[in-house]
Amino acid sequence: MNNELTIEISIPTDDEGYVLLQCEHCGTFFKTTPSDLKDDGILHVFCPSCGLTSDNYITDDVLELAMKKIKNTENDMVYDVLKGIERHNKSGVLTFKAGKRPKHESEDPIRSGIDAMEICTFLCCKRTAKIKPLLKMTGAYCPFCGVKNYEIE
Ligand SMILES: [Zn+2]
Ligand SMILES: [Zn+2]
Repeated sequence: MNNELTIEISIPTDDEGYVLLQCEHCGTFFKTTPSDLKDDGILHVFCPSCGLTSDNYITDDVLELAMKKIKNTENDMVYDVLKGIERHNKSGVLTFKAGKRPKHESEDPIRSGIDAMEICTFLCCKRTAKIKPLLKMTGAYCPFCGVKNYEIE
């Protein structure tokens, strides 16, 4: 039997269609569009602040949601097993009640917030990303090629 659990988590986009990412080195938040992330031409995503690439850009929010989902799914599995024993023993001597289905912890939708970001066009790649206004002023690394852009539109 395969006991592996597959849990799908969709990361919501903001109103303009950008997803929130977080650099694992410096913790900087930035946003890009899912279509740019999936583009075959993009091999690495560079942090606009420190210019490094991270293995994953999953934010703490997403991780937390994943953990909750796993816990809820496990609780359900235990409950289903207990429920099965209960049914099995209906006519038997042993009485057993599984009781109520365990309450789920709320799986909050991930806030796609951290809204003080502006859409910037990185001319080197002609792609856009959302970064903090401060980064825009000081110059930022292009998330798609890692080149530092100083004059960002
Ligand atoms: Zn960084
Ligand atoms: Zn670029």
